[in-house]
Amino acid sequence: MSAESGPSALGPDVPQAVPPAKARGAAVEFQHVTVRYGAGQDGLPAAVNDLCLSISPSEICVLVGPSGCGKTTTLRLVNRLVEPTGGQVLIDGQDVAGLDPVPLRRRIGYVIQHIGLFPHQTVAENVGAVPRLLKWPTGRIRRRVDDLLALIGLDPARVRDRYPAQLSGGERQRVGVARALAAEPPLLLMDEPFAAVDPVVRELLQDEFLRLQRALGTTVLFVTHDVDEAIKLATRVAVMRHGGRLAQFSSPAELLACPADEYVARFVGADRTLKRLALITVGDLTLDDTPVGGSDPADGMSTVSVAASARDALAAALASPALAAVVVDATGRRLGVVALHTIATALAAQTPSTRTSAAEVLANAGRVTPGGNGERVAP
Ligand code: ADP
Ligand code: MG
Repeated sequence: MSAESGPSALGPDVPQAVPPAKARGAAVEFQHVTVRYGAGQDGLPAAVNDLCLSISPSEICVLVGPSGCGKTTTLRLVNRLVEPTGGQVLIDGQDVAGLDPVPLRRRIGYVIQHIGLFPHQTVAENVGAVPRLLKWPTGRIRRRVDDLLALIGLDPARVRDRYPAQLSGGERQRVGVARALAAEPPLLLMDEPFAAVDPVVRELLQDEFLRLQRALGTTVLFVTHDVDEAIKLATRVAVMRHGGRLAQFSSPAELLACPADEYVARFVGADRTLKRLALITVGDLTLDDTPVGGSDPADGMSTVSVAASARDALAAALASPALAAVVVDATGRRLGVVALHTIATALAAQTPSTRTSAAEVLANAGRVTPGGNGERVAP
């Protein structure tokens, strides 16, 4: 892939400072951005209200919030499909208001829910659309299309010459992602890209997307209304509330451990402690020794992989009469035991200032004591 990348692909209108491969994600900054649709009409709430967000190169920033809170508007400010009423959006320090929208959009990938593949073009033609506009040589486009199809988990020989109607919904969505990435954009905007596929396919697409993003280092702004998707994918989550206001901007772990206020706590869910466990692997836990004595010391215990999540370990422990599970590595070797207290200790250690017991979680379902640190942003 990296052999294919080169600043020249971006055309003459685009800053040439974008390095190839891993370091090629763009930085995005929203500075006091406000959008009011129907300018001049009094009483209309802003769609985006004084938004300040600073997104680092190669981050996956997920915007999450209820329908109508301004997520799509925020995303469309970046490629100038929407213009701000006030404030600035900067890409790598440049105000997008001063950039020609056409070359700007060619270097920003854009994936939407109903992917909008061109129905009368083959998969290869769809994926190669932006490189064609950028006048890449044919051979280079062909190689890029095949590389990308393989990267997103589709066999190029099988799908290259098919039309969109000959693909499943999940395959179409993958092709949409490949098309958005074809010219190796430093920035990718994704608006509820996986919302229309069934849960099993959605998980596959999420996993593939994470693998791809790690390989390419593209900066991603990703919109969803699904808090679980946000927690799974994000390096940082921007929780928005009605009126286009930012409620919190934090890492997933921080968001779950220290919601900024009641609104955020309700939004992430009363089961936020269980969600935190999904972010910890069994390998992160301090295991007890495997019990000794008896014919089979681990008799009656379930097993759990060291690579599994602490949430899976909890489920395994609860399923065994001993309320503990034996941890095994990939070869089946026993590494230790995870018990309920092992998991409680890990949760407490992660956030010493906001230790959350099960009773507190119940009590706090609607009332949260602020604590911790990090990048929480006051609403
Ligand atoms: P989300 O993506 O979070 O559901 P949107 O950004 O689409 O929210 O919309 C934010 C608010 O702006 C909503 O109240 C919506 O009705 C309004 N809105 C969105 N697009 C337009 C538009 N083109 N003209 C007028 N109002 C709009
Ligand atoms: Mg939307």
